[in-house]
Amino acid sequence: MNFIDEIKKLKQKKNATILAHYYQVPEIQDIADFVGDSLALSQKAESNDADIVLFAGVKFMAETAKILSPGKKVLIPDINAGCSLADSCKAKDFKKFIKDNPGRTVITYVNTTAEIKALSDISCTSSNAVEIVNSLPPDEKIIFAPDRNLGNHIINKTGRDIVVWNGTCHVHEEFSLEAIIKMKEENKEAKVIVHPECELPVRMIADYIGSTTALLQFTKNDSSKCYIVATEPGIIHQMKKENPQKTYLAVPPRDSTCGCSECNFMKLITMEKIYRCLKTEKPEIHVNSKIISDAQKPIKRMLEISRKLGL
Ligand code: SF4
Repeated sequence: MNFIDEIKKLKQKKNATILAHYYQVPEIQDIADFVGDSLALSQKAESNDADIVLFAGVKFMAETAKILSPGKKVLIPDINAGCSLADSCKAKDFKKFIKDNPGRTVITYVNTTAEIKALSDISCTSSNAVEIVNSLPPDEKIIFAPDRNLGNHIINKTGRDIVVWNGTCHVHEEFSLEAIIKMKEENKEAKVIVHPECELPVRMIADYIGSTTALLQFTKNDSSKCYIVATEPGIIHQMKKENPQKTYLAVPPRDSTCGCSECNFMKLITMEKIYRCLKTEKPEIHVNSKIISDAQKPIKRMLEISRKLGL
């Protein structure tokens, strides 16, 4: 079966739109109506006029789409597409963390479950986290969750009083520092570009640190010819599309016997699953209406601050 043609037909027939994250495989990025990082996808989920949103990404992203567009049917091709970072922050434990650190504004990364968002004051993504913290009064005390590496990056950038939750992404914390040093020795002109979810030693040798969108933008505007890329390698597809004449080297994980520089959750989504999901309109994302209304506030606040800051 030609999944590309069938998916296109179903999309038109059902007024459906496909939103895909940069970490999806190239053929899925190419069939999507919109490809982006978490912030851009949240903005798109809010603004599009489709009846059905199919999310080619992980569950917390599809939940965010449902929170922002509760009247729409939101589908995810594989309900098991989770996220180790979102899983590292459970609502029961996070409630206690907030209670143990009173009087702080709770900022959480969008890589969290709907329940965690419902406990938050402001959401953020790696594209806007530093700016969102900087938009608050200088003496405002903050809780940041769940990624400890992004949290520490924000502290380094802003110097604010922030208590950080101890969570990590199993993909970003696995990049090998030794491999980057060796790649740099072999490609002296290459620039090392790093996602802020990476560990401190990897961030310390970066020429540039940014969200997936910021890394893509950097490779577009920068004059170098070669980049050592420390984030999920799915983004390299867009980098190649924008600047095919440049070279992009994906950083391997510490354990060279595993493929864990790729996000196994993102890669659960396939063209066949997208086709079946559009055809059967299952699995569908459901979020409890009270959680939706509580979780809308921090996401809308993030989108409002981002709009004001022109992000
Ligand atoms: S790359 Fe990490 S943060 Fe992103 S979805 Fe996969 S596990 Fe979650």
